[in-house]
Amino acid sequence: MKTLDQFDLTGRSGIVTGAASGIGLAYAEVLAEAGAKVTLTDVDAAGAEREAKRLADQGYQTRWDVCDVSDLAQVAQAFDNHVAAFGGCDVAFANAGLDVGNGFWTPEGNRNPEGQIDVYDPERWYKSIGINLNGCFHTVREAARVMKANEANGYRRGGSIVITSSNAAEVNEAIVGVPYMAAKAGVKHFMRHSAYELAAYGIRVNAIAPGPFVTNIGDGWVKKNPAAKKAWDELVPVGRMAETYQIKPLALLLASDAGSYMTGSHVMIDGGMQLGPIKPL
Ligand code: NAD
Repeated sequence: MKTLDQFDLTGRSGIVTGAASGIGLAYAEVLAEAGAKVTLTDVDAAGAEREAKRLADQGYQTRWDVCDVSDLAQVAQAFDNHVAAFGGCDVAFANAGLDVGNGFWTPEGNRNPEGQIDVYDPERWYKSIGINLNGCFHTVREAARVMKANEANGYRRGGSIVITSSNAAEVNEAIVGVPYMAAKAGVKHFMRHSAYELAAYGIRVNAIAPGPFVTNIGDGWVKKNPAAKKAWDELVPVGRMAETYQIKPLALLLASDAGSYMTGSHVMIDGGMQLGPIKPL
């Protein structure tokens, strides 16, 4: 087989959580570009519908579903709907996530009095864990359930699960809130165990750990605040935040047969932020 043919997803299907915006939308686009049938899910139903229709208008086979990843029943329903529509599931991106704010540093680089541990708002902690960590568990749980059933359903055996982690799983990225770092570190190790357990079923599990990408995360502050964007650009060794198209090749590698020997990997795509301190105290 020619190398580039291993990236072809013709005849396959994939589902993405948090697909109405940013990195999740880029995942949905690259799946479609590679030939897969795609379900875009999001807690923002209007956004998922809008983007699924936009891709369908370009000739891709897409559908959409509303799905809040913090609610296991909604995640299970979204996966069941995907299988009912496409016969099985080859690829699942557990991507939905958010930053609840209140980092140790403000985006502008000042100490944030509300971001210190001794006064940290517990409700923000619970919300972050509920979406970033529990939501990941719900999605991987349901992906494993439907992928294990693929072969018995007369569909292709196994599948690929790709989780969106963060460089904050590895380094003390004190600008994002501390629960975000804790959740993503949890995501990383949950991914590693899931990969170990599911390998025997032909299911690969990997995580993409992005550094700073220009998306709508944190209410899109980076798009609204040029000074904060500039401050972030200067924290990155390559000198700039990333655009979402830059994550597509890595996403396709992990989703497709091109990544057939990769499982349990936490792959950094961070412009080198892992190489040094994010910001000195
Ligand atoms: P984004 O805000 O542009 O997109 C996130 C999408 O997830 C939105 O469409 C939002 O509606 C959806 N969402 C939020 N809560 C949800 C929920 N409970 N259930 C379902 N959908 C929900 O942000 P993004 O930057 O594209 O974030 C995507 C993933 O990338 C997240 O897991 C985030 O932690 C991760 N990430 C982002 C960056 C970055 O710099 N942008 C860096 C590292 C990791």
